Amino acid sequence: MSLISGFEHFTCENHPLASLTSLRFGAVAEYFAEPTTVQELASVVKRFSEQDLPVRIIGAGSNLLIRDEKVGGLVVQLSAPAFTSIDVDGTKMTVGGGSRLSHFVASAVRDGMSGPHNLVGLPGTIGGALYSDLEFPNVDVGTWVRSVEALKRDGERVTHGGDGEAFSHYQSSLQGQVILSVDMEFEKEESAALTKRMQKLWIIRRAKRPPADVNAAYIFRNHGGESAADLIEAAGLKGTAVDSVSLFDPDPNYLVAEAGATAQQAVELIELVSNTVEQKLDVKLERAIQIW
Ligand SMILES: Cc1cc2nc3c(=O)[nH]c(=O)nc-3n(C[C@H](O)[C@H](O)[C@H](O)COP(=O)(O)OP(=O)(O)OC[C@H]3O[C@@H](n4cnc5c(N)ncnc54)[C@H](O)[C@@H]3O)c2cc1C
Repeated sequence: MSLISGFEHFTCENHPLASLTSLRFGAVAEYFAEPTTVQELASVVKRFSEQDLPVRIIGAGSNLLIRDEKVGGLVVQLSAPAFTSIDVDGTKMTVGGGSRLSHFVASAVRDGMSGPHNLVGLPGTIGGALYSDLEFPNVDVGTWVRSVEALKRDGERVTHGGDGEAFSHYQSSLQGQVILSVDMEFEKEESAALTKRMQKLWIIRRAKRPPADVNAAYIFRNHGGESAADLIEAAGLKGTAVDSVSLFDPDPNYLVAEAGATAQQAVELIELVSNTVEQKLDVKLERAIQIW
């Protein structure tokens, strides 16, 4: 029996990952699954976990650097409708773990939920944002979250929160689990006013962020009160490049990859920046981007 027998209709071998990430390079996944139901997801995750094989989730791939060697084990993408629905009920929203942030923001603004409009223009999924502990001006996603439905590696479904506890109290228990859906609650505000604020933010931010057609990634978390971009600039690193991978000029906390870029070049640039900031400023930057 093969590792994926019974799962062939939603699982394949040697699936390219580059086009599923914002950096658009990297190798293939040994096995790749796009389950269509929670039951299919639970069965395939359980099968690989029982064999002690790694199981990884890919959202929109906007916080991932995929190495040039094959990614062993299983990579799962929650792109099916079962994982991307958005339901609104009064001041509450239930958002599928695979839902794109852009859909979540549009839906929240349309239904007069105050807060998510601040995320305008940010790539990613809600599952990736929670898992990556997203940091963003005027946004603390955790303050919106009431509970999270997740799947453990043994295929068991669990609900975190729902008891009035702050999200930060159970965030660490999400490690290693698949985020299936997130219940959130918001203050209400007029949709037209939210739309105007969102449009203004979009115009301001466009100048400082790599545009959607550029292969890019966000590198380091901010350090205490200091922005990682300011620290990188203070260390004299603006404009630094390793072959086809460089720091984005308007904000050097982004990597930009030209055609022909490799994961090795990106890793070298990240290490160069990290080491130089530490040597010159005595600050150890924490990496935001996940490396597979
Ligand atoms: C142009 C640009 C600007 C950005 N700006 C910022 C910024 O200002 N601040 C910031 O913090 N980040 C920023 N990022 C990074 C990125 O947008 C966020 O981290 C985003 O929330 C990641 O979501 P994703 O779905 O793309 O996650 P992915 O990159 O697909 O995955 C990231 C991690 O989350 C895990 N994951 C994804 N989905 C799930 C799930 N359903 N269940 C469990 N684990 C899951 C993955 O396994 C992986 O470990 C930026 C990226 C780009 C390209």
